Amino acid sequence: MNPVYARMGTTIFEAMSARARATGAINLGQGFPEAQGPADILDAAAKALVEKSNQYPPMIGLPELRQAIATHYAAHQGLDLSPDEVIVTSGATEALAAALLALISPGDEVILFQPLYDAYLPLVERAGGVAKLVRLSPPDWRVTAEMLEAAWSPATKLLVLNSPLNPSGSMAGPEELATIARFCVAHDVTAICDEVWEEVVFDGARHVSLMAEPGMRGRTIKIGSAGKMFAVTGWKVGWMCAAPDLAKGLAKAHQFLTFTTPPNLQWAAAYGLGKDEAWFDAERAGFQRSRDRLAAGLQAAGYVTLRSAATWFVSIDLTASGIDLDDVGFCNRLLDEAGVAAIPVSAFYAEDPVTNVVRLCFAKSDATLDAALERMADFRKALV
Ligand code: PMP
Repeated sequence: MNPVYARMGTTIFEAMSARARATGAINLGQGFPEAQGPADILDAAAKALVEKSNQYPPMIGLPELRQAIATHYAAHQGLDLSPDEVIVTSGATEALAAALLALISPGDEVILFQPLYDAYLPLVERAGGVAKLVRLSPPDWRVTAEMLEAAWSPATKLLVLNSPLNPSGSMAGPEELATIARFCVAHDVTAICDEVWEEVVFDGARHVSLMAEPGMRGRTIKIGSAGKMFAVTGWKVGWMCAAPDLAKGLAKAHQFLTFTTPPNLQWAAAYGLGKDEAWFDAERAGFQRSRDRLAAGLQAAGYVTLRSAATWFVSIDLTASGIDLDDVGFCNRLLDEAGVAAIPVSAFYAEDPVTNVVRLCFAKSDATLDAALERMADFRKALV
């Protein structure tokens, strides 16, 4: 086995979900909704499976989906993408893999921010890159120009930005986006932007892509996911958008990874992307209600939570909560003693981890959230 994989275990999400399944625990660990997904989008997928082609679609994706992605980003984010700049992939994960394989040559340095989505590091290393880790920390998880300059060297070619950020639920603000853009332009760095959470933003906020910053249109790969946008995580339909020069290389990497993505799911994603602003607002409002229910319940039970501006996650600050356990110890006991699965945020760090934050997924029914809260309230009392 290649040493990159030999030293890595099964992902924490899979491990926690497996333990939750084995013990019957309530699973607030791995980020997936309890609901089936929007009925009409599921119907569109089912109908397309029966009525449309089930043979290989075009390598870069159905033209209708690529057009729908470009149109959606024009309407929602003010971007001027042409369908030729959009490549459909089998999930955002494949888009990340294709982008990193296409753009990294051996020895290139890639700036990654911790906490990091677990696929980034093995993909960078398997592509022959050298990860330069920038450590973000609670409660603000802010990126500064100093951090970027400290991570830079003449070998720096790429930066991977995840905003909104999983697991923190924070978003890069206007100043951070401007700082990152200035850095990329000054040092001729290309940005891979993992924006899978772009539609799951709360409190009236709007997602802004790094691609929209001055100087970034031609040096950004913007990655999205239908799984997150339409709350159907098992679909694994994603895409990457980039200027033609970059897109050419991305398409070559994609053609030798999965080549295509199931056509019926592409049709259904195109249908979903055509929904109006009010539909996306209603989806956001639903998740925001669940966020508020979980956060309020946790606070009432004696847990201090960090602000969640986006994503399906709320985090507990163990230190501020007066809980004298690290995140892994807390998650193990919460699972074993209270029957609730959560994710220790230290799992998102490759070095020098933050160890006092625990992530919980609120994309669940009220009944599930309430049942978990009851267990967590009893657990909190038992900890005192
Ligand atoms: N990036 C981030 C930050 C994510 O949170 C996820 C899903 N949890 C992905 C990528 C993967 O998306 P997909 O399922 O479309 O591959």
